[in-house]
Amino acid sequence: MPSWLAHAPAAMGTAALFAPASAPRRYWVTAALCGIIPDVDFLGAPFGATAYSTLFGGHRGITHGIPFAIAFGTLIAWRGFRDAQWDGLRPRLALAFMLAIATHGLLDALTDNGPPVAFLSPLSLERYTFAWHPINPSAAYGVRGFARLPIVLANEFFWAGLPGIVLIVASVTWRRRRLVSLGRRPSVDTADSFAIRPEHVSSQDTASTDGTLAE
Ligand SMILES: [Zn+2]
Repeated sequence: MPSWLAHAPAAMGTAALFAPASAPRRYWVTAALCGIIPDVDFLGAPFGATAYSTLFGGHRGITHGIPFAIAFGTLIAWRGFRDAQWDGLRPRLALAFMLAIATHGLLDALTDNGPPVAFLSPLSLERYTFAWHPINPSAAYGVRGFARLPIVLANEFFWAGLPGIVLIVASVTWRRRRLVSLGRRPSVDTADSFAIRPEHVSSQDTASTDGTLAE
């Protein structure tokens, strides 16, 4: 199955589509955690804690479903970003975190390692998987154990990590250049950076106080 090294950058790449030019660090950390959190249903499984796993409907059950992504993404946006500076921006945050969580199930459905994904749980326990399984196909490698690890990580980087990094770089670069072309600058570490605001400082102030416009 895809590891957290694949899920985190993929989730961050998805969230990057909604990120400000100078996204607060908290935004990226939250996005990465959104990509990982569905596997909470796997905690304890290696130690035989099957009852704990069953609590979540089994691995790739309720925490991998779309209803969970919607509910938890909304919860994070409204409860985790309660500062007044985020007022009016939480729907956008919620959408970003919902999609970041949902990428986890999609990646899991792109591998035949492990059970299919209950995308509609708890509304339906039907499990789904894609017909194409490029991520660590179970029959593709002739080696096992630790000898397999480099191949697995390279595969995950190609199919999940690299696309996520490309999305992050492309999205942030595009937004920064757009602001520069408009003669505006993003705020740093505030929700204001989500909004494109006219900048009422001189170009000299802009360069000295922020530095985020440096090409
Ligand atoms: Zn998973």
